[in-house]
Amino acid sequence: MPVRNQPLSDRFPGSLRLLVGSASELLWPTRCVGCEKPATLLCDGCRASLPWIEQRWACPTCGAPFGYLTCTECHGDWPARATVAALSHEGAAARLVTCYKDAHELRLAPVLAAAVATALDEASGWPAADGSPRFEPGDVDAVTFVPATPEAYARRGFDHMEPVATALGAFLGLPVADVLARGSASDQRLLGREERRENIRGSVRAVDDVSGMSLLLVDDVLTTGSTMGACAEALLARGARRVSCAAATRVW
Ligand SMILES: [Zn+2]
Ligand SMILES: [Zn+2]
Repeated sequence: MPVRNQPLSDRFPGSLRLLVGSASELLWPTRCVGCEKPATLLCDGCRASLPWIEQRWACPTCGAPFGYLTCTECHGDWPARATVAALSHEGAAARLVTCYKDAHELRLAPVLAAAVATALDEASGWPAADGSPRFEPGDVDAVTFVPATPEAYARRGFDHMEPVATALGAFLGLPVADVLARGSASDQRLLGREERRENIRGSVRAVDDVSGMSLLLVDDVLTTGSTMGACAEALLARGARRVSCAAATRVW
């Protein structure tokens, strides 16, 4: 069983913790994910240049930028009620995600969650396909997240969306419902959209009853949507009343 990623400094008490914190900063100094500037995780310049998706023009169904009127990404075929993606998956935004999950920079979890919360706030002012707001804070019962594949969990040593969902839940004042489980599926990377969807559909399930719940399903990167779509279908199959999706970045 992999050990949960805990900062080295948290394992020591008091002054020793300070010392270990300084030592790890000397050995592995903090660098900006966008430009490697020292002493910051995301410098002011990279923060200002993040490629935010303008929610007004985004596809309300799959969150693709500029898909508001005609979306070539999802063609309206999507199980969730609405999807909000915060950033276009490029530049510092893409590095933010890879640095978080592959370089174990867990301090970026609240940064990713803050990006999602910001986009949700903006999206609450724009309609979903059914005419209701794309995000309705008062209507959501809990945040849930797309679980890592068993292979990714073993490789990284943590379920990478859990800390992001926890931070997002704290921002929104919502509990986190850890209800999705995922088995192995073939490697998705070489598959087309329909093949991806079929491949993953059988590998995701909701392990708890979510009858009557309105859930906000969150993931880091939304590409074809096959993974998130399968998770949304699994939640609806276990009785969820409503599923809305959110992603930190969107590939398009
Ligand atoms: Zn920078
Ligand atoms: Zn779309």
